[in-house]
Amino acid sequence: MIICEEKSKDIFRINKAGERHLNIYKGCVDVCPFCYWQADPSWLGHLYVYTDVVERLEEEISTVPEKSVIRLSYGPLEGKWKLVRKCMEILLAHNMALVISSDYDDILNDLDLIAAPEADVKVIMEFTKFKQVEQFNKTGNSHYFEVANELKKHDVDICVTVSPVLPGITDVERMAEALPGIPVHISLLDVRPDTIWGKKTLEYVEKNYPELFPMYTTISQTGYDPYFDSLYKKYEDGKGQIKTFLPFYDHRPEDGEVIKR
Ligand code: SF4
Repeated sequence: MIICEEKSKDIFRINKAGERHLNIYKGCVDVCPFCYWQADPSWLGHLYVYTDVVERLEEEISTVPEKSVIRLSYGPLEGKWKLVRKCMEILLAHNMALVISSDYDDILNDLDLIAAPEADVKVIMEFTKFKQVEQFNKTGNSHYFEVANELKKHDVDICVTVSPVLPGITDVERMAEALPGIPVHISLLDVRPDTIWGKKTLEYVEKNYPELFPMYTTISQTGYDPYFDSLYKKYEDGKGQIKTFLPFYDHRPEDGEVIKR
């Protein structure tokens, strides 16, 4: 893993849906075969930290309208740098509405900010990670579930994503049962055969879940996942705990298209 400490160019990036993200960290230590980011050679194997983000945010926060929705993400370097925490302090002091993505324990260290009654904060946790799904399938629990339930216990506005749903691997209804009161958002697996992530996911399934390989091959060829479709039909009215949409803008790139971050 290559760690790159850099100065910020733009501290915010605004995606096609107009969502404003604060650039604190970039990169990932997981290597999910279905990940869209792997089309970006600077993504996998690298962790970037924008070391001046706190100072830049202090300088620029007055240009952001009050109560704007700001999205920010924890990263594996938060334990050392504490940049999410420092940025949250500034953003909350300026009455911003925060949407925080976190797959890391560090978020529990910041409960004093996140669960403060006056704080407008929503937390999103992604649960489609092979190791944690396998642990959950074996034991009915995993560290991720404990973190999510702990946040819920402190009245944090939290939701979980199972994105993508992996048929035969992610039992979404069982996962939702282990997350009482927490909305679980799902999205369809994208394994188009002409994409990097489609090819890598099929390779991964063939190696690790050979009994599922014929089903994934069919999904790749047809674009149709009967398991996802059954969930969609059951929950599309939006009244249940399982939600058939993602709580953020999601773009299905073409093969070779690099989503810039
Ligand atoms: S899907 Fe998410 S967790 Fe997996 S490699 Fe991509 S960014 Fe990391």
